[in-house]
Amino acid sequence: MEFDTKLIHGGISEDKATGAVSVPIYMASTFHQQKIGENQYEYSRSGNPTREAVEKLIAELEVGTAGFAFASGSAAIDTVFSMFSAGDHFVIGNDVYGGTFRLIDAVLKRFGMTFTVVDTRDLAAVEEAITPNTKAIYLETPTNPLLRVTDIVAVAKIAKSHQILSIIDNTFSSPYVQRPLEQGVDIVLHSASKYLGGHSDVIAGLVVTKDDQLAEKIGYLQNAIGGILAPQESWLLQRGIKTLSLRMRAHLANAEAVFNYLSNQPLVSKIYYPGDPNNPDYEVAKKQMHGFGAMISFELQDGLDPKQFVEQLHVITLAESLGALESLIEIPALMTHGSIPRDIRLKNGIKDELIRLSVGVEDQKDLLADLERGFNELKRSEKNVSDSKVHSQA
Ligand SMILES: *Cc1c(COP(=O)(O)O)cnc(C)c1O
Repeated sequence: MEFDTKLIHGGISEDKATGAVSVPIYMASTFHQQKIGENQYEYSRSGNPTREAVEKLIAELEVGTAGFAFASGSAAIDTVFSMFSAGDHFVIGNDVYGGTFRLIDAVLKRFGMTFTVVDTRDLAAVEEAITPNTKAIYLETPTNPLLRVTDIVAVAKIAKSHQILSIIDNTFSSPYVQRPLEQGVDIVLHSASKYLGGHSDVIAGLVVTKDDQLAEKIGYLQNAIGGILAPQESWLLQRGIKTLSLRMRAHLANAEAVFNYLSNQPLVSKIYYPGDPNNPDYEVAKKQMHGFGAMISFELQDGLDPKQFVEQLHVITLAESLGALESLIEIPALMTHGSIPRDIRLKNGIKDELIRLSVGVEDQKDLLADLERGFNELKRSEKNVSDSKVHSQA
């Protein structure tokens, strides 16, 4: 089956009992056992038909052996790290999701795990960071918010040569844009609260494994720790996933239009977008991504106020999160990355002027007009400032 068909007919796509073309929401905590040990389901933490439908679907979409649904992306990440033990070491991408960094720094370190943070684009640095205790390389590509792209095949190869795991958080791309398991990675995970859910109405996490051995481990931990996705949310997520390709095509086309617009906007000093031919990661992105994603970050010229810009917009929503139908804009330094100390943030390349935009599926004309409104407002206030300077000198 082709990808677009799998979205509709993959996994478990209809109810076997009634033929209903949408899998029912099975609100049941337990299941009647006619004969002990012969039941398909026993207890909904261990297995629920609605959850199973979305789990089978994501396994097919990411081309893995099994899928697992969790109450959030964070719960998915925590469950994956629960495979490991005190004393284990990990190589971590330097630009991972803030919540992932917090989990590592504030929780997992207390349990005796150790981490080395590297720019995973630098393959020599990745190789060098590996110690005899290293158990996995964990990364995101493209990263947040600077959209740096790591060569997935190359990192998977390094992991394999050291007999350690490679784990990728694929939230920013979705399996429409990139399928890391096909490129040699062992475990792929998602915050399905973003592109997979797609409608800003569900918090969920997904994990897909490359082989049965890993699937058994994750399945065991999912049941043991219990951070499962509930039936209602499982249904909502499956419903969201059905339109992934339709949405992604619109997201990608709009992102390209926004990139072209920003490239010609003199008040923008720098753009971060993997589809920019001048981006140093462009060739790697072109090789491993189907389209370049729909996240764009950009910096305003020195002295311009990003707050003033984002607060002017009418169509584009000022909010955290991404991957939604709505275009969402935010200032990392004040919002998503505000908890990182400023000196570390600046060292990582996240300037105060940086703006992150998750390009939605609205009409392009409205998006570009909205951006234009924001830039016009900046120009007007710049002019007012210089007028008042002239005035005060007089
Ligand atoms: C949002 C996000 C997460 C965390 O997922 P939740 O569903 O919010 O718990 C993890 N990784 C990335 C890249 C994210 O964007």
